Amino acid sequence: MASLSGDPVSELLAHAKVPAYVCPKGTKMWILNLGSLTIDEAWQVKLLLRGANGSTASNKNPVNKQRELVIMAALIEHPDAGLILFETGCAEDVDIKWGFPATDLFPRTTYNEEHKLPVAIKATGHDIKDVKAVILGHLHLDHAGGLEHFIDTGVPIITHEEEFKHACWAVGTGADLGVYLGNYMDLDRLNWQTFTEPHYSIYQGISLHHSPGHTPGLCALQINLARDGTYIFTTDQYHIKENYEETHPHGWLARDHTQWCRSNGMIKNLVSIYNATVVFGHDMETYLTVTKDKVSFE
Ligand SMILES: [Zn+2]
Repeated sequence: MASLSGDPVSELLAHAKVPAYVCPKGTKMWILNLGSLTIDEAWQVKLLLRGANGSTASNKNPVNKQRELVIMAALIEHPDAGLILFETGCAEDVDIKWGFPATDLFPRTTYNEEHKLPVAIKATGHDIKDVKAVILGHLHLDHAGGLEHFIDTGVPIITHEEEFKHACWAVGTGADLGVYLGNYMDLDRLNWQTFTEPHYSIYQGISLHHSPGHTPGLCALQINLARDGTYIFTTDQYHIKENYEETHPHGWLARDHTQWCRSNGMIKNLVSIYNATVVFGHDMETYLTVTKDKVSFE
């Protein structure tokens, strides 16, 4: 095949989609626990695991269980970019910001003082006022609700253009009611910034990978840490580890099955290339395992 540039090195670089470099020396990361939701399996499995809990000839009345889902964010102290926040969790007052029936379907069951976003950031030795940019993997209410803390701050709110457009459309038309809310999709008082690249190297050692399926503009975040290796935060491409380990897609929370399968292949390829640790959107067991022996990551 003819080379566009005639330079084999340039051509290789032009086709390289994954940055191979690590974060600069001094980079530090914390995984924040922002509480949990507990969802009845009758809802939860239909939400999170396609076909689960359906009755069969041999089991006409499957037993409902519940699962506790952790709400997470990642805080990154980056020597070049400053303090970066990946995702923000839910609003503080879900009774007001979500209301019924969302609080009935997805009740928040653990939410103490330490789970509030500003308090969780404080526990790392930082202040929410020092956050220089917020990156959102997707804009659902349990990931973007904490944007309430960034109203009128001018802090860049960074998300994929497809996600931003879809969330605006969903809120404006009510087409995807319940999972996106207008109270944090503020077009006047938040400093929205978007990108369009499928693989976007946002800062040295940190990249975002467009992974449509759960939502049109969902992006996983990859961070290559010098000491602790590569972590991939999948946000809700995978809510729970079964979505990943058994390639078991979501129930009604999936939006585009073909795209989800393609994103699944892409992320699994990244995990294998980088020998990455995968952090799923809400998997409590994974969260507890990853954070068991570490307060922070370098
Ligand atoms: Zn979620």
